Formats: sequence, structure tokens, C-alpha cells
Amino acid sequence: MTRVWNFSAGPAVLPEAVLQQAADEMLDWRGRGLSVMEMSHRGAEFTEIFETARSNFRNLLNIPESHDVLFIQGGAIGQNAIVPLNLSAGFTQAAFVNTGSWSKKTFQEFKKYGEAISVVSNLSGNSSDSDYPASAYIPDCGDIPALVNRQNFAYLHYCDNETIGGVEFHGQIEALASQLDCPVVADMSSNILSREFDVSQYGLIYGGAQKNIGPAGLTFVLINKELLGRSLSICPSAFEFKTVSENGSMYNTPPTYSIYIAGLVFEWLLKQGGVAWAQAEAKRKSDLLYNYLDQSEFFRSPVAPADRSRMNIPFVLADENLNATFLSQAGERGLVQLKGHKSVGGMRASIYNAMPYEGVAELVDFMRDFEAEVV
Ligand code: PMP
Repeated sequence: MTRVWNFSAGPAVLPEAVLQQAADEMLDWRGRGLSVMEMSHRGAEFTEIFETARSNFRNLLNIPESHDVLFIQGGAIGQNAIVPLNLSAGFTQAAFVNTGSWSKKTFQEFKKYGEAISVVSNLSGNSSDSDYPASAYIPDCGDIPALVNRQNFAYLHYCDNETIGGVEFHGQIEALASQLDCPVVADMSSNILSREFDVSQYGLIYGGAQKNIGPAGLTFVLINKELLGRSLSICPSAFEFKTVSENGSMYNTPPTYSIYIAGLVFEWLLKQGGVAWAQAEAKRKSDLLYNYLDQSEFFRSPVAPADRSRMNIPFVLADENLNATFLSQAGERGLVQLKGHKSVGGMRASIYNAMPYEGVAELVDFMRDFEAEVV
């Protein structure tokens, strides 16, 4: 068996040890004679899997008692509707920080539920997703408290890591949260569990699992319990956070197998040294690639240095005509899924927690060889 170095943005690489354990347990989970996929979500076995996964997630992120952890379905795009349906009762407006494709999608979807006000943006009003690389920086956020506090917003939404554009916040919004009159809602789909941060500063954090947590199908929601009960009456029960919370994420059948794999990933991460380890590794790996890009005469990062993502690293070749050759030669060296998102072109290396340093080193070695050949 040969495994490739998988730089996919998501669904993404999982720790090999986790996949091996899942394979070993596939037919017979710990001597019970059945697969996790075949278990009742209310049975003793799955309850144990579920409780352990949730409590390890809590421990990894130091989630305070003020916040509940919900495991639901619908993905992060689903949250673009589910969050307004849950937090808008009594409000007509919400505020948005637009820094790329994902935050902009959230902003657009809110317009079905109320007035979406963009308080900070690096996107022009009529631009499409193809406003890259113009969108490859994070604007100054200093005016946010003044802009937000003069109106009655249900919440302020932003995306902590723009998976497509490759810009990542480094605590700017979190540092302002206590000055805001409304709660902060963050999309952390693509950088959850990669840095230590203060969950208590957020009203709500959500994301799809398929990058740093596990398989697609699982959506995590961390919510300040004070926000439960602000839902619109049309909110579907299966997605109403209060209902889901009161039923311990078992109001309907949760994505059981995805939760099981997520649980194995949490255990794996704890064994490596938790989020502190992931944070140090993310720095080591992303520094390796950015340092190479910055000295290269052929490859270039289009993202402002201060705002660069440690998880998703877009880069461009000086000669776009060589893109296809680059991808095919990379494939021959076992380096796959490097093509940039269709809306922006170029290349992108996603280096989530489960991507070993060695994989990034192999990529950089290949890029050095490629550059030597073509320059
Ligand atoms: N937000 C971000 C930051 C993402 O990276 C993605 C997926 N790439 C989404 C939202 C959409 O997630 P999903 O496909 O789970 O709905």
C-alpha cells in the first residue's frame, strides 16, 4: 500500500493511526460483535463513544461551562441559514466582516432573513468569487466596535480562516469581542483545533468537520447557552439549537460514524500534545512553505504576510502555462490535490493538523526541483 501526501482542502487528510484503528474496529467494535455504523445512537456503546468524543473536544479547546457543544448535520453552508434562524428573534439586522468567498456566502444568505450589513470588507460590492487576489488580506478591524455598537445587530459574523483565499485572522476579532454590544459568530471550519483561543469570547462558533476533525457529515456548534432561545418560530426543530441542546444532540439521529471518527481524531490529538502541539506544528509547517515561497523566483504567495493562513496556502507560478505540468509532476511524486480552488486558480496546499511536517518538506523539495528545471 502506498499512501499519497494529500493536500486537499477538505474532505482532507486524516491521521493514518486513526484510519488504521477504524479499519481494525470496522467489523467488531471492541468485542461487541458489530460495527459502529450498525449501533443505535441511543445504545450504551454509542453513548460511550459520543460522550467521550464530546468531552475530549471540550478538553482540547478548554470550552467553558457557559458554552454547549452540539453535533449536528447540514455542514457549514447549512449554518448560513441555521444561525440566522436561531439568533434573529427580535432583530432585523446582523453585521458581517467580508474577507473572502466563505464569509461573503454567509453575508449573502443572511439577506433571506434580514438586513445584512457589511461593516468591514476587502471585497468590492459587485465582485464575484473571482476577486482574488485582491481579497488576499484582512482589512483593519479597529473601527468594528464603533460601527457595530451604533446599531442593534443580532450578531457579528466573520470567518476565522478563509479556506479559498488563504487569509486567517490572528485574534483581531476575539480581542474586540468584549467591546461589542452583540455576540460574535465565527466560522472556524478550516482552522478549529489548530490554535489555542478563548472560546468564552464568542457567542457561537461553527464549522464542518471535514478538515481538522474528521469525515464530512458532522457539523460542530459551540454556543453560549445565553443565546439558546432566540430562534425564529419557523426554525426547523432538527436545527433549533435549544431543542438540540436540550436533547444532548440526540433530538434526531446524529451522524454517528463521523462522530466516532472525530472521537478517534480527538484522542489522537490529545496523544500528540493537544492544541498547543497542533499550533506549534502549524507554525513549523507553514513557515517552511512560506519561507520557500518568499525566496523563490518562480513561486509566489499572493497573501499579505501578516494575514497568511497556516492551514491553506495558495501560491502561484510565474508562468501559468506550467500549471498543468506542475500538477502532473507533483502527482508523480505522490503529492496530490494541489490545484487551487476553481474560483481563484493557481495552486493551494492545505496543511491541516493531520498533514505531517514530512509531507510539507516533500512538497518544498519537489517545488525546488521544479523551479531548478524551469528557471
Ligand atoms: N466555510 C469554510 C471556511 C469552508 O472552508 C467551507 C468548506 N470548504 C465551508 C464554509 C462550507 O462547508 P460545507 O461544505 O461543510 O457546507
